[in-house]
Amino acid sequence: MLINLNGNLVKKEEAVVSVFDHGLLYGDGVFEGIRVYGGNIFRLNDHINRLFNSAKYIMLKVSLSKKEMIDEVVRTVKANNLRDGYLRLVVTRGPGDLGLDPAKCPKAFYFIIAAGITLYPEEYYEKGLSIITVPTRRNTSEALNPQVKSLNYLNNILAKIEAKNHNSLEAVMINNEGYVSEATGDNIFIVKDGVLITPSLHCGGLNGITRRTVLEIAAKLKIKTREDVMTRYELYTADECFLTGTAAKVIPVVNIDAREINGGKPGRVTGIIFREYMKLTKKMGVKAFKD
Ligand code: PMP
Repeated sequence: MLINLNGNLVKKEEAVVSVFDHGLLYGDGVFEGIRVYGGNIFRLNDHINRLFNSAKYIMLKVSLSKKEMIDEVVRTVKANNLRDGYLRLVVTRGPGDLGLDPAKCPKAFYFIIAAGITLYPEEYYEKGLSIITVPTRRNTSEALNPQVKSLNYLNNILAKIEAKNHNSLEAVMINNEGYVSEATGDNIFIVKDGVLITPSLHCGGLNGITRRTVLEIAAKLKIKTREDVMTRYELYTADECFLTGTAAKVIPVVNIDAREINGGKPGRVTGIIFREYMKLTKKMGVKAFKD
C-alpha cells in the first residue's frame, strides 16, 4: 500500500505524522471519506468542494488547488491500482508548538490513504440494522458547525460508544431542540405514506453526498421528497427507514429504540433506492483508469 504524504507516495510504515501536528494535538484539520467503484472515484468533485469549504470555515489554507488535489487523489488510486475501495483524504493544520494558536503552524499537511472500509457487516444490508437514539446531543451550529467535516469527531464518537454500550451498531443523534439530526457517520431517511423524508440540514446533519444523491434519485424516480424537522415520533412511526453515507452506502434500518419498522424487514422503497444508488456509483465521478 502506498500512502500519499504531501505529494510523496510512501510505504505504509513511512507514512507518519509529527506528534506536534495540531491535527493530532487538537483535532485541528478536515477530511473526506471517498469511495472508488470499478475505477470510478464517486463524486470526487463534490468531496473536494466540501473539503475546501470545511477548510475555509476553519481558516486552514490547503497547500494545493482543488484541481491539484483531484490530480493527487487520482494519482494515489492509480499507484495502488485500487479499482474498488475507500479513500481517506486528510488535511491537518500541520506541526506547530504546544499552544492552540494555528498561526504557529506554518504549513498545512495532507495525506491520502487508499484502502477499504466495512462500516457494517454485510449481513445487515439484507436484514437491516437495529439502532437507538442516544443521550449525547449533536453539536450546535453555533459551537462547531456540523457542516464542517473536521477531525474533531468526539461528539459522534461519544454517540457511537453509547450505541455500542447498548449492543446497537449505530446511534441516532438528536439536537438540542429535540429534533433528529443524523447517525454518527451517516444521514438518516424515513419513508412515510410514500414520501421520502430526511432531516433539514439546519437540524445538524452533515450535507452528505450520498444524501444528496438519494434525493436526486428520488426526484428522477418521481418519489416525493421532503426535508423537514423530525422528532423521535416520526422515526418510530415510519413505514421505512435507512441510513446513507459514503462508507455505509444505503443501509436499511428495521428497529429504532425497540420499535419495529416495517415489521422488522427492510422496506421496498429502500431497496429501490439502494439498487439505483449502486448503478450510479460507477457513473458519476472521475475515472482513475483508462480502461
Ligand atoms: N454524517 C456524518 C457525521 C458523516 O461523517 C458522514 C460521512 N462520513 C455522513 C453524514 C455521510 O456523508 P457522505 O454521504 O458525504 O459520506
